[in-house]
Amino acid sequence: MTRRTILGPGDDCAILSPSRRPQLFTIDSMLEGVHFRLAWGPPEKLGAKSLSVNLSDIAAMGGKPIACVINLAVREGLEARFFDRLYKGIRSVAERYDTDVVGGNVTRADRLAITVALLGEASRGVTRRDLARADDNIFVTGTVGDSSAGLAILSGKVSARGAARKFLVERHLNPTPRIEAGLALAEIKPTPAAIDISDGLLQDLGHIIERSHVGAEIDAATIPVSSAYRAAMGDDLSLALGGGEDYELLFCARSDLSERALAEALGVPVHRIGRITKGSRTVIRGADGTLAPKLRGWDQLRAHG
Ligand SMILES: [Mg+2]
Repeated sequence: MTRRTILGPGDDCAILSPSRRPQLFTIDSMLEGVHFRLAWGPPEKLGAKSLSVNLSDIAAMGGKPIACVINLAVREGLEARFFDRLYKGIRSVAERYDTDVVGGNVTRADRLAITVALLGEASRGVTRRDLARADDNIFVTGTVGDSSAGLAILSGKVSARGAARKFLVERHLNPTPRIEAGLALAEIKPTPAAIDISDGLLQDLGHIIERSHVGAEIDAATIPVSSAYRAAMGDDLSLALGGGEDYELLFCARSDLSERALAEALGVPVHRIGRITKGSRTVIRGADGTLAPKLRGWDQLRAHG
């Protein structure tokens, strides 16, 4: 346990020492049959992901995670060994990101669900969704589309072999919350707008656009995709634009900040994918400056996914 936890699990409540900084509080659930199937991976990875998706929300605000509580909805047919392994995965991620698991609850249900409520605190600026301004550049960390390509592989909708398959499936089962990158973003003045990519690049950009009352222009040719994504999907960017659960950070920063300077500050690859405009529309341009045909179907593809 960290110094912030006065009393961990075992009493009616955990006791945490007060924070002088603004506190961030978030919750997320992973539901069997909706967000995962047990056949897709080991319980350790399921546990790890159930905490990582919450950590990603703290990362999106530029915060530092502090402590979490967990509710397990347990169905019949799962043994104690399964839950030991699930908790092992949760604990490994909690330790990696200095987060205390300070309490839990178990309920019976007809399907397995893992719900995590996570408390964090702001570091410097809070990288909210409503901070984008016209002429900001739009950046994304890492690569996008890997997780949903991995999901498509697990669901038998896309085929891939060898290292590409392994990489994409791992990105779906065990995403990396960008905590350190988020903390570095929060140091930048003026504070950038940011969001984590959970629903898909375009949809999450839409949340920034809406909250900031601005528009956006995206250059499809600059969307960063991995070589594994290319191996599985070719030139099809639909999952990179519309697929969710990458848990990378999408952010908008003033135009004098270069990709290189940002990558160095954040400690992860950073790519510029477009810019914020006045108005309220999001325009996606292909290599020839018009909407690329392969992009038109991305929303339908998502709806059928
Ligand atoms: Mg989020």
